[in-house]
Amino acid sequence: MATGTLIRKVHMDCPLCDRKHEVEERKRVATIILKGEEISYEEKFYLCANADADENEFETGSMTNANLLNARNAYRVKHGLLTSEEIVAIRENYGLSQVDLARLLGWGEATISRYESKAIQDEAYDTMLRLVKDNPLIALDFLKKNAVKFSDQKRAEIRTKIVEKLGSYGKEYLTRQAFEGEYADFEEPSDANGFTILDVDKIEVLISYIAEKVPNLFKVKLMKMLWYVDAVSCKMRGRAMTGLVYRHNTMGALPMGHYSLMNLENLNVHEEESYNYDSMLHIYPTKGMDYSILNDDEKEIIDKVINKFKNYKAKDIIEYMHEEKAYVETKPGDIIPFSLAKEIREF
Ligand SMILES: [Zn+2]
Repeated sequence: MATGTLIRKVHMDCPLCDRKHEVEERKRVATIILKGEEISYEEKFYLCANADADENEFETGSMTNANLLNARNAYRVKHGLLTSEEIVAIRENYGLSQVDLARLLGWGEATISRYESKAIQDEAYDTMLRLVKDNPLIALDFLKKNAVKFSDQKRAEIRTKIVEKLGSYGKEYLTRQAFEGEYADFEEPSDANGFTILDVDKIEVLISYIAEKVPNLFKVKLMKMLWYVDAVSCKMRGRAMTGLVYRHNTMGALPMGHYSLMNLENLNVHEEESYNYDSMLHIYPTKGMDYSILNDDEKEIIDKVINKFKNYKAKDIIEYMHEEKAYVETKPGDIIPFSLAKEIREF
């Protein structure tokens, strides 16, 4: 007795009557026991009109596999688990192979392949897949945790693919994380940070504020101006403004983590070629920056520094800084303590 609904007619070798003829491909709702539970799902089958009514159905091997996949996906949907298609989509979204995704998550190499084709994932595995699906930053965390499972080249490749999936929020988070990471040893107020904990929001606002008022602001000059802002702040009110820690460098004070500082997502920094073909970082104001996080005292300090150095060339501000006690009394590579920084000359 024919059941189900007709999908299409197919001309094929029929295993029931051993002839080449047109058979009907049909679908119907079937039930199966999976993990001890009765599950309804859609199954497909072929129907031979030449055979006896009680044995006129057959399936090909690939049809049986597809039916089982449907049954397992019906179980997954019922239990709120990711379907095999969703697992494939997560993997393809990141451009990863089955083995790479399995290694990324710290699983056996065949695990993802099994979940995409023949096994239902446990809830714990499902949760991990969802974490990665919704958040590339978590995928990056897994990559870090399971780094040893990849060659350096492969790891870099996968990292690039994941980073491509980060939106601007994720990129901002990443650049901050890199910068803050360099200050891991300075989480307490001390003479090194001017008794101020690193304040990335304030640093971004401060840099943009300086760039609004100082034309042709390049990195070398900005680094010195940041130090002067913190030094003046220490001198006037006993604590620095940014929480940056500065080292004695041939070109004057240089904040720790200055490379990652320049990469902060909310800064407007452009690499430009100078007259002698050196590449230089030109800092512009950031569009839409909210300056209200600077209070009047802070603006007064910053303006004082801007008015002093606005028209100095990089070379001039370096030479000026070289005369400071904080520079003279420290050695190359030393952290410049704010107890010395606050003794800057009056200006
Ligand atoms: Zn037949």
